[in-house]
Amino acid sequence: MCTSRIFPLPKACPRCTTALVTGAVGEAFLDECPSCHGIWVDAQSLEKIVADPELQAALGEPSAASPARSSLATARYVACPSCAQIMNRMNFARISKVIVDVCRAHGTWFDANELAQLSVFLREGGMAKWQKRHEEESAQGRRDAHAANVAAVINGEHASPEIERCRDYSHAADFVMQLAFALFGRR
Ligand SMILES: [Zn+2]
Ligand SMILES: [Zn+2]
Repeated sequence: MCTSRIFPLPKACPRCTTALVTGAVGEAFLDECPSCHGIWVDAQSLEKIVADPELQAALGEPSAASPARSSLATARYVACPSCAQIMNRMNFARISKVIVDVCRAHGTWFDANELAQLSVFLREGGMAKWQKRHEEESAQGRRDAHAANVAAVINGEHASPEIERCRDYSHAADFVMQLAFALFGRR
């Protein structure tokens, strides 16, 4: 959410260095590796995917033939295609079992099949389950803390102070409201 998409630069696949090919699903940009089929998703695009069931459906179903190969324990760490910093590996939303590589400033790397797995998690109400788990774990249970941590999932961080370091704070706040509406407003 701190990045600009006006003049996207060519990026190399963090796994195999093949040049990524930029495509789009709705308003979300996806940079896919034509060789290993991993997908780079910038932070703004991932917010849109998390908030929009139509985008989630458009991402399709995971292929049984090519399960994600990564796990928290075995996969090697990879560098962000934008800034070359080594990314953090995390279980998306802690309960999804989709292990992703996250650069807090730029976006999230999904190995082959992982983005489709995430879309299934989201379509099955994963974020609401995560929210419930978080509420159960939260001793204070304050609503603002929950909201801040929803955005923190996208940023690859579970603690809320990271949000304040983001230059575009108002955008983060808008996203939290949008996401809260998507999760609880129309069902
Ligand atoms: Zn690749
Ligand atoms: Zn980066």
